[in-house]
Amino acid sequence: MENKKNLLDFTLEKLEQEMALYNQKPFRARQIFTWIYKKRVFDFDKMSDIALSFREVLKENYSIVLPTVEYKKISVDNTVKALVKFSDGQLVETVLMRYNYGDSVCVSSQVGCLMGCKFCASGLLKKIRNLQSGEMVGQFLVIDEILKKEVEKDENAHLTHCVVMGTGEPFDNYDNVLDFVKILNCPYGIDMGARHISISTCGLVEGIKRFKQEKLQVNLAISLHAPNDELRDKLMPINHKYSLKELISAIKEYNDSENGRRVTYEYIMLEENSTLDCAKQLVELIKPTFGYVNLIPYNEVCENSFKRASNNRIFAFRDYLNEMGIKATIRKEFGSDIDAACGQLRARYKK
Ligand code: SAH
Repeated sequence: MENKKNLLDFTLEKLEQEMALYNQKPFRARQIFTWIYKKRVFDFDKMSDIALSFREVLKENYSIVLPTVEYKKISVDNTVKALVKFSDGQLVETVLMRYNYGDSVCVSSQVGCLMGCKFCASGLLKKIRNLQSGEMVGQFLVIDEILKKEVEKDENAHLTHCVVMGTGEPFDNYDNVLDFVKILNCPYGIDMGARHISISTCGLVEGIKRFKQEKLQVNLAISLHAPNDELRDKLMPINHKYSLKELISAIKEYNDSENGRRVTYEYIMLEENSTLDCAKQLVELIKPTFGYVNLIPYNEVCENSFKRASNNRIFAFRDYLNEMGIKATIRKEFGSDIDAACGQLRARYKK
């Protein structure tokens, strides 16, 4: 069959244009959005306020395809890690993380990843393909359903935050990720506040330049992980393409642009990048920009030999940054009993 278009791929604006092809008013797109996202009805036959004849047109040309859950693990702290499967059989990881301020889903943007960061288990699987926006929407809907049905057992429970921080490099799949974010943010869609959504990039400068033009208040996180080119070259191959100088100047432009905001710097705490000297260099590097630092205790993976920095080092690093006037926090860890570290579940499942 499948020449049918997945309705989950459409932003409201694109669906309005699509409906116009059938001489339907923009209202038709809003109705469909309401059925899907407000009522979570995925069956055209149940869309009772749409004329029967037009429902037939929809059924002939469109589908509403959710991924299936291939495997799922709920940890003691109620972190849920799901391996979701798309119609072509590809698998990605999606994670539910529970904070005191709300429930957040970590969505993957690609199957595998091209960036090849040395410490990361995702890159081991190389990039297989981009995810469609509807496949990211699908991850969201599946986790939201698990939250309602299995975790909270309450139909009113819902995801309040979303981070595009799973497998893949979001700015290597820019258009689909942006459409996904627009669907999340749309009042007729999931209606999640832009400030509750974050996109994390390893620092694709052309993506940051595009992103600053978007009229969206979505948070931008930058995976920095090293305070100088020598070390960053060793950890992240992307640094050969965009040096820290180029990256930092793109971030400054973003900070200063009309739609720009402060960024979050992500910095994994490894033995080799967590010395006090590194902290000093980091302060100098990011001082000209507007951002705060999220220190991520490294999740050791068996596929490489990187070691997590000791807790004392992590605390000393944070304290130094704070003393120097740069706000730094240590990321809460989730579900380490269930392989919640990036890319680990899929890598293990494949074996
Ligand atoms: N490609 C994007 C988003 C996916 S990675 C990016 O690079 O930002 C999300 C974050 O997890 C990145 O900061 C990444 O460097 C970090 N990460 C990868 N492997 C990790 C591990 N084993 N432990 C802790 N953080 C890890």
